[in-house]
Amino acid sequence: MDAAYDVIVVGYGPVGTMLALLLKEEGMRTLVVSKEREIERYPRAAHFDDEIIRVYQAVGLAHLSEEMENPPRYQYFDKDWTPFLARLFPGGISDQGYQHDFMFFQPDLERAMRDRLSDGEGAPVVALGETVARVWQTDELAWVEVRDESGATKAYSAKWLIGCDGAASTVRKSIGSTFDQLAPSHKWYIVDVKLTDLAADPGMDQWEYCNPDRIVTYIPLSGPYRRYEFDVKDGETDVDLAGAERTWELLSPWLKPGEAIVLRNDIYRFHSLLASRWREGRLLIAGDAAHLMAPKLGQGLCNGIRDAANLAWKIGRVVRGEAAPHLLDSYEAERKGPARQHIEISAYLVSQIISKASGEEQSGEPVVEQIVAPRQVIGDDDLRAHDALAGTLSRQPMLANGRRMDDSVGYRFALLAMPSLAGALSASDIRALSALGAVVLRAEDRSLADYLTDIDRGALLVRPDRYIAGSARTSIELSAILEEARHAYCLWVGAEWLQSAFQAETEVLLAE
Ligand SMILES: Cc1cc2nc3c(=O)[nH]c(=O)nc-3n(C[C@H](O)[C@H](O)[C@H](O)COP(=O)(O)OP(=O)(O)OC[C@H]3O[C@@H](n4cnc5c(N)ncnc54)[C@H](O)[C@@H]3O)c2cc1C
Repeated sequence: MDAAYDVIVVGYGPVGTMLALLLKEEGMRTLVVSKEREIERYPRAAHFDDEIIRVYQAVGLAHLSEEMENPPRYQYFDKDWTPFLARLFPGGISDQGYQHDFMFFQPDLERAMRDRLSDGEGAPVVALGETVARVWQTDELAWVEVRDESGATKAYSAKWLIGCDGAASTVRKSIGSTFDQLAPSHKWYIVDVKLTDLAADPGMDQWEYCNPDRIVTYIPLSGPYRRYEFDVKDGETDVDLAGAERTWELLSPWLKPGEAIVLRNDIYRFHSLLASRWREGRLLIAGDAAHLMAPKLGQGLCNGIRDAANLAWKIGRVVRGEAAPHLLDSYEAERKGPARQHIEISAYLVSQIISKASGEEQSGEPVVEQIVAPRQVIGDDDLRAHDALAGTLSRQPMLANGRRMDDSVGYRFALLAMPSLAGALSASDIRALSALGAVVLRAEDRSLADYLTDIDRGALLVRPDRYIAGSARTSIELSAILEEARHAYCLWVGAEWLQSAFQAETEVLLAE
């Protein structure tokens, strides 16, 4: 049976939008369905890291990072305002080719993403004001029934359906997946303000005030936007906290009415939840539908963007018939463990603040440490037994011509190889690269050669999500990793590997 669409994306939040952008790169016929018409007016996420900006680069939105701000440090104070921990954000350009950390205003970011999605050829169909009521699947298709604002219902079908429908995900429930709780939840009262008197700016340093009477977190978002988070005590409700008078009382040590306006004030529950299953046949979930974490590490949305980057190229290969559907089993296998790790670190950071506020003594000089959320590693450890770099994030060198490496690649596989290895590719290597739709980058540029020398390799096969599929020192090892990649990511039909439909011949790009 023919599907009207290749993919239905449920949800038009930042994860659904990024997934749709990447599926556009893959040439998919996509339908995005969302119950809300408008972008959420107020921010939730405020921080991205450099890996995430690389995903934005893949969809032509790297320039957004130029308008974002780079946070300097994150200090922890005890109840007397004595600092006991100063966490510094790494400065300078990271191995990803960008600053390490970015602060942004989420509504502006989402607007730019939607503009990009509707721009040019291959834009998806976007159905707004349509609430998903039911999701099911047959052998050949995924189905969704939606109710529009008039109450009328209709059904859409596609080959694949991905629920990016947030914490209360209908799609997650439809596949019988439940949330496992990894740590206790905590309530926080979030107050976002917009400065109207810039002279009253409380500054760009983030901090935690570990006061037993009331823990306070301060997060400068970007531009004139600032966030305060207050821990909610047992028994306190909206009525106790969210009135204008009480809100200004809580803000009074830092801001007065006339210096700022309150944009939004809500009680949020910071959860540590991980969905038990991320895929059932043709139905999958991503983003907050699959994992929820406390925002102390600034990684909730980052993980949703990583889900999208891991999934879109796999869906593209399966829909084009270049890979078998079981390639999609690797999505949950690769993403669930790293998401769990960030949920656990985030929960630990909350418990650290709470235990300090509850009187845990700290002596001596304040500790100064760098804030580096561990880079995620995908795939199981067996993978790394014979190749220590497999499943780790590749670097992005800046080329001599001033461009970043990924600009020569796009959202595709890339073989980065020393000229001696690139020049010795066998006919079967070339067939494997062609089946992968890979770009070959000969390391003639100094920075590419330096990267390979530094990691003691002659070649690296990098996936579209920028994770390393395999690394090699010699031509023999290179042939072996290309053969492994062909088995992992390509479809074997009869006596021949299917050639990539959109990449008939391997393109050899000479880095200038
Ligand atoms: C206070 C706070 C601070 C945070 N700070 C950070 C941070 O600094 N860095 C970071 O990375 N993350 C942070 N996060 C987490 C981040 O905000 C979320 O992970 C992210 O917004 C989730 O995006 P999403 O697209 O998965 O879900 P959502 O943004 O919730 O989008 C869900 C979409 O699904 C649609 N939808 C839902 N149900 C249906 C239905 N039945 N039918 C049709 N459509 C439906 C909705 O309309 C919406 O479009 C923070 C979160 C909070 C609460």
